[in-house]
Amino acid sequence: MKTLRLVLGDQLNSKHSWFKTTNDDILYCLFEMRQETDYVKHHIQKVIGFFAAMRAFSEALQKAGHNVVYYKINASENTQSLTDNLNQLLDKNKIERFEYILPDEYRLDNQLKTFCETLKIPFESVSAEHFYTERQDLANFFKGKKQYLMENFYRDMRKKHDILMVGDQPEGGKWNYDKSNRNKWNGDDDIPHYKWFKNDVSEILKDIKNLDIETFGNFETQTFTYPITRSQALEQLKYFCEALLIHFGTYQDAMHTDETYLFHSRLSFAMNLKLISPKDVVKTVMNYYRKHGDDIDISQVEGFIRQIIGWREYMRGMYWAFMPDYKSLNELDNTNKLADFFWTGNTKMNCLKHAITNSLDNGYAHHIQRLMITGNYALLTQTHPDEVDDWYLGIYVDAIEWVQLTNTRGMSQYADGGKIATKPYVSSGSYINKMSNYCSNCHYNHKKKTEDDACPFNSLYWNFLDEKREQLGTNYRMGMMYSVLDKMDKTQVQMIKERAQHIIANQNEY
Ligand code: FAD
Ligand code: SF4
Repeated sequence: MKTLRLVLGDQLNSKHSWFKTTNDDILYCLFEMRQETDYVKHHIQKVIGFFAAMRAFSEALQKAGHNVVYYKINASENTQSLTDNLNQLLDKNKIERFEYILPDEYRLDNQLKTFCETLKIPFESVSAEHFYTERQDLANFFKGKKQYLMENFYRDMRKKHDILMVGDQPEGGKWNYDKSNRNKWNGDDDIPHYKWFKNDVSEILKDIKNLDIETFGNFETQTFTYPITRSQALEQLKYFCEALLIHFGTYQDAMHTDETYLFHSRLSFAMNLKLISPKDVVKTVMNYYRKHGDDIDISQVEGFIRQIIGWREYMRGMYWAFMPDYKSLNELDNTNKLADFFWTGNTKMNCLKHAITNSLDNGYAHHIQRLMITGNYALLTQTHPDEVDDWYLGIYVDAIEWVQLTNTRGMSQYADGGKIATKPYVSSGSYINKMSNYCSNCHYNHKKKTEDDACPFNSLYWNFLDEKREQLGTNYRMGMMYSVLDKMDKTQVQMIKERAQHIIANQNEY
């Protein structure tokens, strides 16, 4: 064997040009490692899902005739360190050349760069052949600009890739149908049964338990329900087009106690591990829309396409434009601890109870639950962004740093001072009541501000604005809220602040 090629756990792209032909001089390697299970505490389903997809991918490569070394987490030769495992294979197989796919995570990128500097053989890194954009494309696009507006990037992507365009104009006459995507779901449009996979992961579960790998979260189904192979991912995508796309945009921001997924696609895990590419997803959705355009409104399709070619590519580009500094930004100087109930769901606030319990049960919450329930609360309670990042990076099966960090520290916690979001995503209870049925069964009253049974989000909201005036007071998008605050009765404001401060100091009682 002459060449060693490394495939990381989130690089399971069977369509990569590496795999087009077999070659006996090439050895592929994949490792399950404590280095990856232990750098943050992960949800049990996240660890299981990664290992299950990696094992399936390795088997498929071997079946296709490639030479593969696969280290399971409990393999005796597994050193549990990426570089030690690589060195071991280089020596053992007298390797003459090392190649790797560029990691999407800064930590691994750095580790591999440093490793390559120690090598005495030639080495090369290649593109993941997954995204629409390369790492630095977004930084180049915004070069010299003061603001990094997603909308500008998204429109450029639509034009560049000719998606939902008629000539140089947006199909349907509008770039963005965001305003049609703000409906509450009252059970009126039926949600078909979800597509669940029943991947047997009992062996992996045993391996994790035997090694005492520290995880959290629940795993009641005992089978992994998200796609772990390309064919499962394509099946999930087909199901999304046939059953969910029709209402995707309409209920994109809705939340409901009876429904975990509503009309969301559950494709993020498969996409982030690169089982399918954003191009696969966009092509399939557009083909379906072209065939069924009489039944599906453009607002549903545009809402979905925006997430894939807009937000997803934008978040990755922002990550590479601002790392490594981005990981320590804390523009609002928040220092509080994350409430203990984030790890248990044990709170009387019904919205948080549901969003957190869903996350603990399924390693999943949809975008608005992540942004406007857990994220909103963490920001209003002025939680340190490091604590918030660790929770988000651990709990979601789809959490990989390039997409988690920019969404959490940037979009949700405004710790980047507005690079991603032009104003903080914070709200009082009335927004949550508008978008969900959470408040109707809550211990608290979403209309009250200072009484014992007043919704905590209400006092926290005004207290947050008051305390962050120095950083936010000049933000033109916050002007209206500050003028409402300034017109409020001073005694009332004082009472609101006292309640908010009591909540922050005693979060686990609420
Ligand atoms: P759908 O609602 O069906 O959306 C389709 C796809 O669009 C998703 O699969 C995803 O690939 C993409 N997408 C949608 N919104 C975003 C976004 N803001 N950024 C990037 N891609 C997007 N997504 C992750 O993949 N990993 C994370 O770790 C992650 N952390 C987040 C943390 C916070 C605080 C917030 C607010 C959002 C986060 N997101 C993250 C984005 C989004 O919540 C998830 O992509 C989505 O909920 C996944 O479920 P789905 O596949 O059913 O998505
Ligand atoms: Fe959440 Fe407040 Fe509504 Fe309760 S009343 S569900 S705490 S927003």
